[in-house]
Amino acid sequence: MDRILMRRMGVASASGETPAGIPDLPDLPDRQAVEAWQMERLRETLQHAATHSPYYAARLKGMDAGFFRTPADLAMLPRSTADDIRNFGADMVCVSQDEIARVVTLDTSGTSGRPKRIFFGQDDLWRTTEFFTTGMQAVACAGDTVMALLPDERPSSVGRLLAQSVINMGARPLSGSMTRGAEALAVQAMEEWVNVVVGSPMHLRAFALGWKSLGYPAGLIHTVLLCWDAIPEAVVDLLHDILGCRVLSHWGMTETGLGGALACAEGRGMHLRETDLLVEVADPETGSLVPDGTWGEIVVTTLCRTAMPLVRYRTGDYGRILCGPCPCGSPLRRMDRTPGRLQDDIVLPAGGTGSVTVTDIGTDTGNGIGTEGTLRLIDLDEALLPLYGLAEYEAGWHEPPGYTTKNTAGHSAPELVEECVVPVLSIELFHAAGVAPDVLRAEAAQRLLASPVLGSLLTQGGVLLDMSCTPAKDMSMNHAKRRIRRLAASSLSETVPESRS
Ligand SMILES: [Zn+2]
Repeated sequence: MDRILMRRMGVASASGETPAGIPDLPDLPDRQAVEAWQMERLRETLQHAATHSPYYAARLKGMDAGFFRTPADLAMLPRSTADDIRNFGADMVCVSQDEIARVVTLDTSGTSGRPKRIFFGQDDLWRTTEFFTTGMQAVACAGDTVMALLPDERPSSVGRLLAQSVINMGARPLSGSMTRGAEALAVQAMEEWVNVVVGSPMHLRAFALGWKSLGYPAGLIHTVLLCWDAIPEAVVDLLHDILGCRVLSHWGMTETGLGGALACAEGRGMHLRETDLLVEVADPETGSLVPDGTWGEIVVTTLCRTAMPLVRYRTGDYGRILCGPCPCGSPLRRMDRTPGRLQDDIVLPAGGTGSVTVTDIGTDTGNGIGTEGTLRLIDLDEALLPLYGLAEYEAGWHEPPGYTTKNTAGHSAPELVEECVVPVLSIELFHAAGVAPDVLRAEAAQRLLASPVLGSLLTQGGVLLDMSCTPAKDMSMNHAKRRIRRLAASSLSETVPESRS
């Protein structure tokens, strides 16, 4: 990514490039220069948006783009939300219809029931391919075969853009579909000499378990790249153990132009794609910036995006910027792996008192955001995903009659505000072939009780556990982000997945 930075900033490499194409460190711009360059792009973006989009013309009325000199000045700008995109997305577009190369339609959830549409121009897509191509050079080598477990049916879908990037960097792309089953996929990977696999944590985990069940050895796959969803430490450990390979992480979403941050080559967090994004971590309530090292909500402003710029867009993802410069020498800031999304937090009443536990995202415990009384998928993941006999699981919770919910931090986070009945956490375990359901259920219960956050919730009666165990089914390629589903008391079917393509 330093290469893209140098190219964009017009910094020439005086001493040339190393054979791997990595610029020599002394040629890299310093942090101050990167920030100044970003602020210049920000001023251009604001000017472009205010001039060409009806939404931003109204939103940024009276604003002087020249005012914005330091990242702290961004606090003067209003934040935008997913609902803004749902309601005013078309008005955010700055180019004519025929300049739109791709429209990605996301979920239809949210208060308005409208879908979220993100518009990209050809140059926006090109910059994503540029990021993927450069990023993949840190993941794979020329001559490698890269298997992607990603949707690739549509033109310019993430799988297709990645495949093009893999070709650009001299490697061979291969598409893998989870619908074939994990073992079939592992056989395909073995026969095709795959050495790099890219996919969501749950898909990669299933792939690794398939690999193990076939008795394939560790060390044949040299790198896996995890993307799409929160990345549990348990999955990273399992992949290390089974595949014996490097495990790299990526963060991004459609709104960030797919790419957002990629693992540092030295494993010190993920370097932000600061050539195209100005990333802030903000207090979800107030919108003010939090210091580096503190958890908050990731807020992004797109730089260089022509079709549909986003200004201070609330991603809904937890994140934190890692302190200090990276030992690898890159001037790009780094972020930690995101443990999930704010709106998926389920805040339960504190142990029988009826008072609500406020989510304290500033507290650094365990996965960084853990707070007693808050039900989070990442905590379930860390407890359950180390179990080899578990193919996957689904979790939901019943909202008992008498509870009301309210929004927190502008998101539709379910929060129980009245003491009444103890909520029920339903977990459906899917066991691998040959695994005794009772044994798996007992192991799972033991691990949940031993989990720091969930254990105290369960032992103090903050939540009741209802666990079932059924045979595993083949996974779908639907890359909906996983969440603890909110179940109607009478039905177990309510869920609105966020489909991505
Ligand atoms: Zn680094």
